[in-house]
Amino acid sequence: ASQSLVKFPSATSDLRKSISCHAKRGEGYGPPLNNISETVGNTPMVKISDRICPKGRTIYAKCEFFNPLSSVKDRLALSIIEAAENDGSLKPGQTVVEATSGNTGIGSGCYDVCSAWLSCVITMAEPFSIERRKLMRMLGAKVIVTPKAGKGTGMVEKAKELAEKHGWFLCHQFETDANWKIHYETTGPEICNDLKDMNFDYWVTGYGTGGTFHGAGKYIKEHSPDTKIILAEPGAANLIGSGLSTDRNPDGSPACSHPAFNPHPIQGWTPDFIPLVLEKGLGQSIHDELVDIPDGAAVQMSQALARNEGILTGISGGATMWAAVETAKKAPEGSVLVAMLPDTGERYLSTPLFASIEADMNEDELEIARSTPSFIL
Ligand code: PMP
Repeated sequence: ASQSLVKFPSATSDLRKSISCHAKRGEGYGPPLNNISETVGNTPMVKISDRICPKGRTIYAKCEFFNPLSSVKDRLALSIIEAAENDGSLKPGQTVVEATSGNTGIGSGCYDVCSAWLSCVITMAEPFSIERRKLMRMLGAKVIVTPKAGKGTGMVEKAKELAEKHGWFLCHQFETDANWKIHYETTGPEICNDLKDMNFDYWVTGYGTGGTFHGAGKYIKEHSPDTKIILAEPGAANLIGSGLSTDRNPDGSPACSHPAFNPHPIQGWTPDFIPLVLEKGLGQSIHDELVDIPDGAAVQMSQALARNEGILTGISGGATMWAAVETAKKAPEGSVLVAMLPDTGERYLSTPLFASIEADMNEDELEIARSTPSFIL
């Protein structure tokens, strides 16, 4: 209730002038598509205003919530299913099973529908938001919730067990090359193409499976070698000497000991193990720096993006933008940064992201009750 309702600097006309794609409105999207999966990818980048971006620097947000199921994982779900259909490892009528923090499951649920002859079973650890579970069911997937204590490892084991027992097709998102390859073929090129006239100095991302980091990071390093890659990590301070720090063995491989993973509220990020897709990316020394995300920073930044920029992204998006802003503060004047926003904030209505909003709502409702006696009657 205490927050200002005016989010944009001035009148609507100024806002309209500032929208560069405005001229294209009304031209249409293009010819009708065959199904919703054809809308995956080609997400826009959006400039962050100086209400959040440090002065003299530029931050662009890569808005993955523009994908049809509102997350970066639509790319991967489609890629895995297409690759498996093409190489014959996924047979007509075979059930697809996968362990996921939700977004991959939501994507898979959709693309299974598009393939018409697939059915989908998802294993997901208990703490992930209820919205995810509902959305997957809405898309026709069956959801098996694994105990909180088993963490990410528990849900992955359950998916493997079910695949073996029933002969289902396991997506293996934490291991398959189809994961990072889709980001090498789409996410990375999209960023470089959209910034073709401009050098960008930093690319900031987090990781779940590590697919975005590995695939897009590899492409960016190959095509824009001066761009520094920043990996955001809750609890990075605990990871010194781990495979996620920039420490290297004499042969150049990551100096890897199992990091001390802390529980953190960033759904979809940093499972309690190092996924193979991530490890393979780290092995190529793609990342230049690790930025620690302190408690509370991710949620606060997601809220700030909503209030100040009209950008509704999830907690991992807030964490990534927080890392981008911290990097920008230390970067030279004129630096350009790109930050990944992996999914929509609407997937977090039941989580700490919306807790202060709920408190405000209760306050507002009480206020109405107080000032409208008949309301109480
Ligand atoms: N943010 C969210 C909300 C996610 O669900 C995921 C994937 N689990 C990521 C970020 C990270 O993406 P990736 O798996 O490509 O590392």
